[in-house]
Amino acid sequence: MGLYKPNQGHYCASVQVTWSTAPRDLSEPRLPRPGRHLPKKFERAEAMTQYDTDVIVVGGGFAGVTAARELTQQGAAVILLEARDRLGGRTWTRESGLGKSLDFGGTWVHWTQPHVWAEIGRYDLPLISSPVAEHALWKVGDEIRHGSPDVMFDLLDTGMTSVLDGSARLLPNPFHFRPVSDELKALDHITVAEKIAELNLDDEQHALVEGMWALNFSGRPEVSAYTQGLRWCALTGGNWHLLFEACATFKLAGGTKALLDAIAAQSSADVRLGARVQRIEQDADGATVTLTDGRTFTAREVVVTLPLNVLNTIDFAPALPADIRSVADEGQASTGCKVWVRVRGDVGKVAGLGPSSCALNFFQYEYDIDGDSLIVAFGRDATRIDITDRDAVESALREWIPDIEAVAVDGHDWVADDLSQQTWAMLRPNQLVAVQNAASEPHGHVRLAGSDYAEGWAGFIDGAIESGKTAAARILQSLR
Ligand SMILES: Cc1cc2nc3c(=O)[nH]c(=O)nc-3n(C[C@H](O)[C@H](O)[C@H](O)COP(=O)(O)OP(=O)(O)OC[C@H]3O[C@@H](n4cnc5c(N)ncnc54)[C@H](O)[C@@H]3O)c2cc1C
Repeated sequence: MGLYKPNQGHYCASVQVTWSTAPRDLSEPRLPRPGRHLPKKFERAEAMTQYDTDVIVVGGGFAGVTAARELTQQGAAVILLEARDRLGGRTWTRESGLGKSLDFGGTWVHWTQPHVWAEIGRYDLPLISSPVAEHALWKVGDEIRHGSPDVMFDLLDTGMTSVLDGSARLLPNPFHFRPVSDELKALDHITVAEKIAELNLDDEQHALVEGMWALNFSGRPEVSAYTQGLRWCALTGGNWHLLFEACATFKLAGGTKALLDAIAAQSSADVRLGARVQRIEQDADGATVTLTDGRTFTAREVVVTLPLNVLNTIDFAPALPADIRSVADEGQASTGCKVWVRVRGDVGKVAGLGPSSCALNFFQYEYDIDGDSLIVAFGRDATRIDITDRDAVESALREWIPDIEAVAVDGHDWVADDLSQQTWAMLRPNQLVAVQNAASEPHGHVRLAGSDYAEGWAGFIDGAIESGKTAAARILQSLR
């Protein structure tokens, strides 16, 4: 997270429904939507059809907005239903109370992430880098140690390399590993904490490695699946240094909203904000989607892009498979928080990493604001600290730098947010197969998509885009 100099060679970084599988007849009449310029291949006679639209996309985060763009660009009519009063979901660029517009959810992107990187190129969006840390702090017991970031990384290296050993062999193509191999399944009961415990790390190494995984999972290593760590590292060729760089080095200069807006601008979907879906009921040929306010919409196909932890807030008829419902009930592992803090004066290009017992166990300097420093910090348990409370955040940071003064703080509690109830998706043990199975096949006319279900960078913006594109491609095949 800004600790490496990017792009340098030294880091190696019960209703039974019979699903209709018959191909769609595109000559079937439907009502073209006013003002829409459909490509010839999707043009149809102007006549009423039994559905309001071809596809309903539920959720307007990166996955939903990408799916809507892909579908409408191929001439499908789409209604996008988003419960919030804005698009973006778990990404949210907005003015902060700190003197700068900031990203309160997803932020960093990287060239190892093909889907988001291609979109950034497509829209020619400028990137900026997080500052490279010049000074590192790490915590062992009650003691704060400090030195150069390289020293801290050397201390992490043995543990991180050992934990992730074999990731590239187990997942030679981490973007396409479905169906989950027996070898990976056999490892899916193991937690990251158990894996760390197998290593003979000294206290200092243990504190750092444990803290790194709490940061990665935005949660407790004791409930975090080791396979998820293997997946992440396989996506960077088995190189944990590059993985770390991928997680927090490059940012969109205009915030994630710049990319979201660019994608949305190329979609002609009928976007309904403030539209919270309560029920999705299928029949043999399509589905009826009912909102909490009673409005209904019908479509031939539905893409549901909800975060895993809120999937069960929709009543599906017929029900989704029992295993994915139980994953959603159990919840995935992320329970953490992210907070932006304006601190008095210039604290320098500093970063800190400590064990998950710290309320804020990672922080790094990001910007100068009129002589003050803007830092971003993360903790593994959003219930432990009120990230909107200046005093609470200051006292958590004083565990690190005793005289630090928080001028103001700003953050969004994604775990308390009833439309996400989690941060970025990180699976618990024994959830992988159910999630990947749920994403790989349609459930009648309903498909599950979203970053949480991605095959590649699940938990990232890249995974959301991947998943939205895949869902759209499959729906287009089925509509054709
Ligand atoms: C604090 C934080 C930091 C992160 N940092 C990074 C990062 O640096 N880099 C990175 O790549 N990723 C990061 N992520 C993860 C990334 O932001 C997400 O994985 C990604 O944005 C998810 O996109 P999505 O479309 O799959 O889901 P969401 O963005 O969650 O979209 C789902 C949408 O569904 C809506 N919804 C929910 N219920 C209903 C309903 N019943 N009816 C209608 N709509 C509904 C929600 O309001 C939401 O808009 C971070 C996430 C968080 C929270």
